[in-house]
Amino acid sequence: MSDDVAPMAPVGRASVEAPPYHEGAPESFQRLWTPHRMVYIGGADKPKDSTPGQCPFCAAPGRDDEDALIVHRGERAYVIMNLYPYNTGHLLICPYRHISELTEASDAERLEIIHLCARSMEVLRAVCRPHGFNLGMNAGETGGAGIAAHLHQHVVPRWIGDANFMPIIGRTKPVPQLLGDQRDMIAGAWDSAPATPREP
Ligand SMILES: [Zn+2]
Repeated sequence: MSDDVAPMAPVGRASVEAPPYHEGAPESFQRLWTPHRMVYIGGADKPKDSTPGQCPFCAAPGRDDEDALIVHRGERAYVIMNLYPYNTGHLLICPYRHISELTEASDAERLEIIHLCARSMEVLRAVCRPHGFNLGMNAGETGGAGIAAHLHQHVVPRWIGDANFMPIIGRTKPVPQLLGDQRDMIAGAWDSAPATPREP
C-alpha cells in the first residue's frame, strides 16, 4: 500500500515488466486509483518537519472527536479516519506517543494497536459490509508512509470490484462532511457491533 507504484517483482531469474497501458484496456495489476490523494502526495498538509509540534497524529487527540474525525480513543492508541482515504471507511490506528516504528512501541502499545485493528474490522463489517481488507503499516518514507514520523496502522475495507469503480467515483475528492458521516456511523457502532466468535 505504498503511495508509489510497486517495484517489479523478480520471478526466478527474470523480472515481470509492467504491461503496456492502452486506454480502456484492463490492467494486469488491480489497484485502487485515487487521484484525490495527489493533493496529499503533492505536499498539501504535510508536516514541515518530523517533530511532534508539526505532527497531525499528535495534534488530533487534543481536538474534539467530530472535529478531528476520531472514531475511538483507547488507553495507548486511538482510531481516526484517514483524511486521504484509499477507500470508504479507511481507518488509521495511531499510538498517542510520537514514535515512528513498531519496533519503538511498548508491548502494551503493540497489543492495543492489534486489538484496535481487529475491532476496527468488526465495526467496519457491521457498518459497511466490506468483502475484504488491506491491513498494513508503511515504515519510513521509503516504505510509503505519508507521515513517517508517527506510527499508523492502516485498515482499508475492500469490496469486490472496487478497483473498477474507483476510477469513476475516485474523481470526487472526499469532502469533510462525507468523512464526518462515515466517522459518525463507525463511532456509533464501535461499542455495539458484534464481535467475531472466538476462543477466550
Ligand atoms: Zn506525532
